[in-house]
Amino acid sequence: MQDCIFCRIVKGEIPCHIVYENRHIIAFLDINPMTEGHTLVVSKAHIESFSDSSIDIASKIAESSVTVAGALKKALKPEGFNYFINEGKLAGQLVMHLHMHVVPRYSDDDVKFEAGRVELDDEKMKAIAKRISKEI
Ligand SMILES: [Zn+2]
Repeated sequence: MQDCIFCRIVKGEIPCHIVYENRHIIAFLDINPMTEGHTLVVSKAHIESFSDSSIDIASKIAESSVTVAGALKKALKPEGFNYFINEGKLAGQLVMHLHMHVVPRYSDDDVKFEAGRVELDDEKMKAIAKRISKEI
């Protein structure tokens, strides 16, 4: 897409710090990192969301994320990782082009994941599971 910043990175029109690249995937440092080494693993094809991607592309994103995490482990010695994909503006997706965040974690970093929780009784959980599984 013409106006997509990640498509422009893929085309080489916008500079970035590439850490890994193959035929389908490009991985580069997040310009606004949560921690040192925060990397975005991006499909080269413009796909807006994870749920719209093919199993093949989703697998390639996962595979490349493992590759990048392995390199981050060796290079920066993090103590853990967060991996996540935001989908949709409501969920915090800022660039509407599928990307996995690979965030190395350090004991002295300032990252906080605070999630709200809903209380659902067993009957409600059962009904939700049934509605979901029916669609698979
Ligand atoms: Zn794009």
